[in-house]
Amino acid sequence: MIQHDVIVVGSGIAGMRCALEIKRNAPKADVAIVTKQYPVRAASVVERTGIAAALGNSSSDSVEAHISDTLAYGKSNNAAAVKALCEQAPAAVYELEHMGLPFSRLKSGRIAQQVGYGHSQPRLANAGDQTGHAIVTTLYGEVVRFGIKVYPEWFMLGLVVEGKNVRGVSVLDIRSSEIEVINAKVTVLATGSYGQLYATSSDSYASTGDGHAAALRAGINLIGMDLVNFHPLGVANTGLIINEQVLADGAHLLNASEKRFTNEQASLAEVTAAVNAEIAAGRGVDGHVWLDVRHLPTSQIRERYPHLLDYAEDFAGVNPNHDFIPVKPTQQSSLGGLPTDLNGSVAGFEGLYAVGACANNGVHGEQALPGNELAAAVVFAKLAGAAIADKLGAASYGNVPSYATSNASDEIEGLFGQKGSHKLGLVRKNLRQAFNSQAHTAASDEQHVGLVHSLREQFGQIALHDKNRRFNTELLEALELDRLLDVADAVAKASVAAL
Ligand SMILES: Cc1cc2nc3c(=O)[nH]c(=O)nc-3n(C[C@H](O)[C@H](O)[C@H](O)COP(=O)(O)OP(=O)(O)OC[C@H]3O[C@@H](n4cnc5c(N)ncnc54)[C@H](O)[C@@H]3O)c2cc1C
Repeated sequence: MIQHDVIVVGSGIAGMRCALEIKRNAPKADVAIVTKQYPVRAASVVERTGIAAALGNSSSDSVEAHISDTLAYGKSNNAAAVKALCEQAPAAVYELEHMGLPFSRLKSGRIAQQVGYGHSQPRLANAGDQTGHAIVTTLYGEVVRFGIKVYPEWFMLGLVVEGKNVRGVSVLDIRSSEIEVINAKVTVLATGSYGQLYATSSDSYASTGDGHAAALRAGINLIGMDLVNFHPLGVANTGLIINEQVLADGAHLLNASEKRFTNEQASLAEVTAAVNAEIAAGRGVDGHVWLDVRHLPTSQIRERYPHLLDYAEDFAGVNPNHDFIPVKPTQQSSLGGLPTDLNGSVAGFEGLYAVGACANNGVHGEQALPGNELAAAVVFAKLAGAAIADKLGAASYGNVPSYATSNASDEIEGLFGQKGSHKLGLVRKNLRQAFNSQAHTAASDEQHVGLVHSLREQFGQIALHDKNRRFNTELLEALELDRLLDVADAVAKASVAAL
């Protein structure tokens, strides 16, 4: 059995930032990261808009204005969490700068601050349109420098729980299909979101809510699972999202008659709803509408959102200077997660923390103000890291129940031995298509509960065709679908309860 003082599950921005803060505060702590991918491949890398922080470099911005914008956008936020986020975001950004993050700069040399959707002041710090990528690679450099051990391509199967104490995790080494139990004094879940529940999603293929499912299986009630945000500017049938800033800069949305049909400056939720309504009313084109940027200067597009040109040309096959770009609502973020306090501690369980997209401390309310998710991932992961370092001296490894290994290996052998005629890909497809909309009604939510139940039964009758133990991607897909079904059940039930 492997032992570490702290095991962090997930190597996105939140997981790495948390691990680093523990090492900074407790240099002797033995901290390790388990990740089913490689650290630089986490979903965090695709983030483009920037990280929100009231640095005041381009205007007389203030923490108070950031707080006010966040509360207005999210509607039902936890005010204490918002205050902590907005107060601490500037320091968190400067820390990233000092780690070497190549932020875009003003002529004065200060970090540039872009205007952001829903922000009353220029407030987004960015690294061109590769902010997430820059943060991930910068943090990974620090992870290596601090000697934090990383177990790449290890899949966390579940939490090891004894009573209300979390003792670590059970994992599958993807390269050999062998089971390991990692015993830890503290376990941190930083497993990201559940975007793969939606057929049209911008999230990574790895965003299958594994941490959420592990929590559910350990008896933890998740909160806010119905809070899933869609983005109006997904390039049709790709899952790629065009930066919403282009709407604030004057781009138009057009229907099949090439007429504008909404106020493009409204909140992203309102614009998304308007696009959905237009398509539902039969005024879309093949399930999408048009984005028109022809009147915007190419130099502006090239400078502010160069990905728009690539996406339009390479994926939609159009020239945005002359043609419309086909866009449709695409799932972008899921806000539901493990309930935590501001230090990431999960109520009712000793030794368990959650940070980043799999945690919910109420900071975002009903929808996340653009740029705040990254800020929250960094700020609250840092707070959690400091709190963990503080408590580590008094923490102990505790007992690892023998069933931890046998349960994990039963799951794997059960899947290898399972017989039946249902197809893994089809169950997954039916699940993702059913959930693929932000619009829901009491009837559709009830239907989802029933559908998940029947897909769960079908899942029990799928047979793996690949029995190979080395890097078995079919096994991985089955494990992820299994977890996604638990998440789907939680989303459907939360949606029923919310209506
Ligand atoms: C297209 C897109 C654009 C976005 N734009 C913005 C933006 O402009 N501004 C903003 O603030 N936010 C934005 N966000 C949201 C932001 O990127 C995320 O909230 C943030 O990156 C989440 O980081 P994370 O570390 O929590 O999760 P992730 O980066 O998803 O990392 C999760 C980690 O957990 C690992 N993992 C998962 N399951 C397991 C398992 N079973 N075993 C082992 N490891 C596991 C994964 O491999 C990965 O390393 C955007 C998101 C998307 C998808």
